[in-house]
Amino acid sequence: NVRVRFAPSPTGPLHIGGVRTALFNYLFAKKHGGTFILRIEDTDQKRFVEGAEDYITKALNWCHMVIDEGPKNPGNYGPYKQSERKHLYRQYADQLIESGNAYYAFDTADALDAHRKDHEEKGKTFIYNWHNREKLENSLTLSPEEVAAKMEAGEDYVIRFKSPENQTLHLKDIIRGDINIDTNILDDKVLFKSDGMPTYHLANIVDDHLMEISHVIRGEEWLPSLALHYQLYDAFGWEKPEFAHLPLLLKPTGKGKLSKRDGDKLGFPVFPLEYTAPDGTVSRGYKEDGYFSEAVTNFLAFLGWNPGTEQEIFTIEELIAAFDLNKVNKAGARFDPDKTKWFNHHYMQEQNNYELAETFKALCPELKDIDINYIELVVDLIKERATFVNEFWGLSHFFFVTPEQFDDKAFKKAVKEDTKPLLQELVTLLEGISEFEKETIQTTVKTWIGSKDIGFGKVMMPLRLALVGELAGPDVFDIMFMIGQTETIKRIKKLIE
Ligand code: GLU
Repeated sequence: NVRVRFAPSPTGPLHIGGVRTALFNYLFAKKHGGTFILRIEDTDQKRFVEGAEDYITKALNWCHMVIDEGPKNPGNYGPYKQSERKHLYRQYADQLIESGNAYYAFDTADALDAHRKDHEEKGKTFIYNWHNREKLENSLTLSPEEVAAKMEAGEDYVIRFKSPENQTLHLKDIIRGDINIDTNILDDKVLFKSDGMPTYHLANIVDDHLMEISHVIRGEEWLPSLALHYQLYDAFGWEKPEFAHLPLLLKPTGKGKLSKRDGDKLGFPVFPLEYTAPDGTVSRGYKEDGYFSEAVTNFLAFLGWNPGTEQEIFTIEELIAAFDLNKVNKAGARFDPDKTKWFNHHYMQEQNNYELAETFKALCPELKDIDINYIELVVDLIKERATFVNEFWGLSHFFFVTPEQFDDKAFKKAVKEDTKPLLQELVTLLEGISEFEKETIQTTVKTWIGSKDIGFGKVMMPLRLALVGELAGPDVFDIMFMIGQTETIKRIKKLIE
């Protein structure tokens, strides 16, 4: 029974790496007919940001993920927010104290700093474990009476895990294989804080156990915690889930980790949706930047995974069918903004033209009074050349307004001595067409050019220039049909006046 969770901390907008983690969890769950759970890990009240949870849900939904169990649609394992589970954790910390796997520590922050400094001066690193425990203030060195007295006096304390001496841990990771860890390098990590809240480690393990999580799929930055998590499961006597740590996302150069600041620096978003922080700063989002959700989801899937075939375009259903954790790479995944654009161009072609027309219209004040059905026809003609809707106007303005001027270079290329008489003749020809339909215009014009001993370019180039203002754009006969007989003739006359 596959049950996986995405467990973000609501400390700000969800970074694109976080969405990738969520997506891999989702794909894995659905592939195996399992359950995808959202758990909000908000035990660190200092870092809590208002609105972040809402943002997370919206971002996941936008990227085609459906949350099976979460704060908004609880299943049988709730609550799904750690702040609402506060009362649960203490008993587990106590359980570890009783079994000798954890202890109370009373060291103040200042005392610990002093120890750290002292070690540094001697060129050593301070590790709070059996190396140093003896010299510190904790329930392993103090007598039970001293401990009781300190508690009575209301002194701050934390509960630490007691890491064993001279052991080798054998960890398993689906993506990374077997990992051996020497316990001598491990800190006695804090499990329970003086503010009465569990740390990430304790809450995360307790919740994964209580929620019957079968697979923990998360970012590589959590790999160093795996040794402690293994030990916690063993100390509780609980069965472990399987673990998979996803590769880092690298900068477009391939060097170094992609950071939240890279997006602004290099001109691409690193967040799925735009985000306004409590202090008013706005971070760009894929959605608002004009990316289609299918494109974003498709490119995210390829950050660290590939199907082992040439196929790159996948619907979410196809991703579910093809996804395999064993095909996820160990090596960091380079984030390539050009590839996102390539995906977007592809998905542009699959969008509904009417909806694109509506987006286009909303974006362009010039289109305020234009019939949506006309815009829809224009969209159909130009979207092949577009990656984003905000390029539509540049590709299509001549469908809506008469070109103000002609491109110099194009003019020199297209307009020759014989252009004027030719276009005059063409005007007469076009005036004579009674049904101004694309097919008719095309046959009439082509037959006429064919009857003369001239190349097509002699007419088609200046004609295009007259209609568009430059030598670009879709099929000339489509343009003539769309703008109509009167406007077509007016534009040709304007060129040869
Ligand atoms: N709350 C952790 C985070 O913010 C969860 C890590 C995990 O999945 O264990 O990423």
